[in-house]
Amino acid sequence: MKGKMKIVSIDIYKADIPFHEPFRIAIMEIVSAKSLFVRINTDAGIYGFGEANPTWGITGETQEIDLAGAVDLAKLLIGKDPLAIEERMREINRFLVHNSTIRSAFDMALYDILGKTAGLPLYAVFGGEKRTFFSDNTIGIADPDYMAEKARSYKERGFKAIKVKLGTTAREDIKRIEKIRKTIGEGLPIRIDANQGWDYHTAVTVLRALEPMGIEYCEQPVAHWDYENMRRVREKTTIAIMADESLFDHHDAIKLASMGCCDYFNIKLAKSGGLHTALKINAIAEGVGIRCMVGCMTETRLGLTAGAHLVSARPNIRYADLDGCFMLKEDPIMGGASYSEGGEITLPDDPGIGADIDPTFLKRCEVITIK
Ligand code: MG
Repeated sequence: MKGKMKIVSIDIYKADIPFHEPFRIAIMEIVSAKSLFVRINTDAGIYGFGEANPTWGITGETQEIDLAGAVDLAKLLIGKDPLAIEERMREINRFLVHNSTIRSAFDMALYDILGKTAGLPLYAVFGGEKRTFFSDNTIGIADPDYMAEKARSYKERGFKAIKVKLGTTAREDIKRIEKIRKTIGEGLPIRIDANQGWDYHTAVTVLRALEPMGIEYCEQPVAHWDYENMRRVREKTTIAIMADESLFDHHDAIKLASMGCCDYFNIKLAKSGGLHTALKINAIAEGVGIRCMVGCMTETRLGLTAGAHLVSARPNIRYADLDGCFMLKEDPIMGGASYSEGGEITLPDDPGIGADIDPTFLKRCEVITIK
């Protein structure tokens, strides 16, 4: 290639994919995936795709907020070199403070272009190997009997771990896990996620009661800002603690690690603003002996495949919670990571993210093009 590659136009697609059933967590209820797909087009004929799946209760972003942000970010990028990701992400992260989810869509699209230009799948761009691994599958908050039946069906499908949303009252939450454990028997790890739903005392009460029940770890027991109480909760229980909503970027990672708040980090591209900062979080984690998980919001397989490349490329990322696509009634993604019935993920060998979006699906989406 002679000279620098240039970004010539950016298409922003507005999607809305219904769920099989409403998904309830401690802080919100979601009924569909209102993603934005960002397609960055270059003068070399190569394009990159990224996905933003805004989760207002966690990042403060809605689809409308992110649409406005995407138009501004697109204007910032026109005419620039998509391969200079360090510079592009510096501009993006300085221009739009917070709004990590829409930033992540641009980050993904830039890395997609980099991989396609290099002729390498993303895990190889990051110097990693292709490895297969399992995602868990998540059960939203509901009554204990319903949740237990879901857990039984996930076990029958072959999942290696079940994630359970909690965070209402101590009594209800303990009952939920008791019922689930009784239904699925011993052995299969249960991961729990309070999504900030508890205060310090409730967290200690629930976690102590659940200690004999084979809990692999607990995500975000207390409010996202409450680092001190996360540390105190961790001291009071043998169940490992994972920071999620408290961890957006590498600055948060340093604070959480230095305060001793948690055993694990839950990295999500929608929180970190994409792969560029996610790699920094994992590097900090490795430096202090914290293992990571890559989690998700309710992205399609496009966003999930970007996350899966990161898991494949970095062995310090020990867990995967990339199950958003199981909730969606429609799968508009062509290529991308494939999922076995029991959640085993196999990455594509195509360059970049290795996922495209069905053109007939995109035709149904509202689109804004910035040139
Ligand atoms: Mg979580």
